Amino acid sequence: MGIFIGNHVSSSGGFEAMGKRALDVGGNTFAFFTRNPRGGSAAAIDPGDAEKLIALMKEHNFGKLVAHAPYTMNLCAAKDDIRTFSRNMLADDIKRMEYIPGNYYNFHPGSHVGQGEEEGIRLIAQALREVIDPGISTTVLLETMAGKGSEVGKTFEELARIMDILGNPEKLGVCLDTCHVWDGGYDIVGDLEGVLKHFDDVIGLERLYAVHINDSKNPLAAHKDRHEKIGQGCIGAEALKRVVSHPALKGKPFILETPCDDDGYREEIRMIRKWTE
Ligand code: FE
Ligand code: FE
Ligand code: ZN
Repeated sequence: MGIFIGNHVSSSGGFEAMGKRALDVGGNTFAFFTRNPRGGSAAAIDPGDAEKLIALMKEHNFGKLVAHAPYTMNLCAAKDDIRTFSRNMLADDIKRMEYIPGNYYNFHPGSHVGQGEEEGIRLIAQALREVIDPGISTTVLLETMAGKGSEVGKTFEELARIMDILGNPEKLGVCLDTCHVWDGGYDIVGDLEGVLKHFDDVIGLERLYAVHINDSKNPLAAHKDRHEKIGQGCIGAEALKRVVSHPALKGKPFILETPCDDDGYREEIRMIRKWTE
């Protein structure tokens, strides 16, 4: 089995259109925004269109998809109305994901905006408790964050706390973003083994479901979160090659969120496939 690699595709035109876009650049998985990333509105779902994507994925042996929540979702916002808005969006997204059952839904845990990390963690767990039901087919993923501003999820410990509060439900896991962990201070260039060992000790590698594979414009522990093209940033090609080739990450979907156009993604996907042959 080869690597599952793809990019973040535009969601315009619906499910099948996204699958075709992914295939066009050589992908066999992809990420997409479940709704307007900077707003909240969601397009109506056509169940027939979802069926077509499911058929396309089967035909082309796709790995799991990694949907992305909108950036406006902040489950631990200081303001009540933003929290309510975010919880409603999360609940609606989880329902919508059931049209393409069995895939992943990734979100930024949130920014506590001055309330403190403890309160942030508590609020995120509380919101998740309402939606993480053993009956859902989707696995919900907390994304590792760069630690920009008051972002929760900049350490593996913070993510583990959220999952612990909820009793580590089966349908909850982690998506590791290489740019974010690097910016967060985890040296995946000098000590990938040590970082993965630490992840395993704190969270458990069995709870790592997906990887966002990005280079970073900034040095280790910069807490900036600015993605760079593969091999053109501070992480570099060699280190990213070790990530995509690592046996502990085998079979997981790798998603590119690099500043590329379609030709750029096609080239990155081709290069990463070659690395892992
Ligand atoms: Fe993200
Ligand atoms: Fe990411
Ligand atoms: Zn990012």
